[in-house]
Amino acid sequence: MKVPFVNLGLQYQDLKDEILDAIDRVSLKGSYILGPETCKFEEEFATFCGAKFGIGVANATDALTLTLRAIGVGADDEVITVPNSFVATAGSIVNSGARPIFVDVASDYNLDPTKLEAAINSKTKAIVPVHLTGRAACMEEINKIAKNYNIKVVEDAAQAIGAIYQNNPVGSLGDAACFSLHPLKNLHLMGDGGIITTNDPEISKNLKKWRNHGLRDRDFSEFWAYNSRLDNIQSAIGLIKLKHLPKWTQRFRAIAKEYRDNLEGFCKLPAIDPKGCEAVYHNFVIRVPNREKIQNDLNNLGVDTKVHYPIPLHLQGGAKKWGYKKGDFPETEAQGFEILSLPIYPELTDHQVSHVVDSIKKVISNN
Ligand SMILES: *Cc1c(COP(=O)(O)O)cnc(C)c1O
Repeated sequence: MKVPFVNLGLQYQDLKDEILDAIDRVSLKGSYILGPETCKFEEEFATFCGAKFGIGVANATDALTLTLRAIGVGADDEVITVPNSFVATAGSIVNSGARPIFVDVASDYNLDPTKLEAAINSKTKAIVPVHLTGRAACMEEINKIAKNYNIKVVEDAAQAIGAIYQNNPVGSLGDAACFSLHPLKNLHLMGDGGIITTNDPEISKNLKKWRNHGLRDRDFSEFWAYNSRLDNIQSAIGLIKLKHLPKWTQRFRAIAKEYRDNLEGFCKLPAIDPKGCEAVYHNFVIRVPNREKIQNDLNNLGVDTKVHYPIPLHLQGGAKKWGYKKGDFPETEAQGFEILSLPIYPELTDHQVSHVVDSIKKVISNN
């Protein structure tokens, strides 16, 4: 049996008629950019996240970059984030003109709030906690510290659409939140896409200019900005998919439960949700000591796995000039050697899930 890490064609098969119909509808109107579908998607997405405003952009890297610009981050500023995220988190901070300052993570793969305060200084303008693997970061502690220092908090929620923290959805937990609609994310379009949610009307108003050349109206540009907009066809597809998201999220959680119930004692499992919190398991990450061997053995049994992410941000090429070295973020680096992401997506069959479980048990017992 084969269990691929992703299989995007399956979701398309399920929604094919609805999607083709939407593409046809938008195309016949010939309204491709910032049209009614985008407005509606922004509204419905924001509502889904318990936020007042949604601003569609070209991808989540832009969402983060533009949000930082819109809250006033620029040259010579510092923005705090974690070293174990996808490269876009640090890249977008650099794009905004600022320098990323890394703070190590805890065993839940998210920013360790006990290490946060030591990284703050007079240059710190924002904190970008990442809800990695679809689990919300410790927002209560982070927000409290941010408030004391008058620093803004921008959630990197690229992996976490639908995750719940203290009974509230991510996307409504900081000053603004950035989501990716990339094909590998839980709610994805047929190409790149991103969206920002916020409850702050000023941030929302600013972002609508930042994504569209700083234009106040058709002819007057208030400042030099970007072209980073969400297409109407993609928004129409997003509206269709948003309806299915609760059902998909349930399936992500059901598969996670199956993995958890059956793999206890075989490997380190993801942290259990604290009270009032519910992860969405964008990735289901286990930890095993001899990861390369186990990954290879699983592959031989037809189980495709990935590592998110083997090289931390402080050791990437662009970070060289800041003088970080191996050993600077011990928890992130230790995790980097052991983490392994199992296949998890709504279309996985129960059979495939059992095959993953059986294969891991077999491989780990033999190693
Ligand atoms: C995917 C991802 C991004 C970037 O998303 P794009 O839409 O591809 O730009 C940013 N942060 C995290 C944590 C991600 O997983």
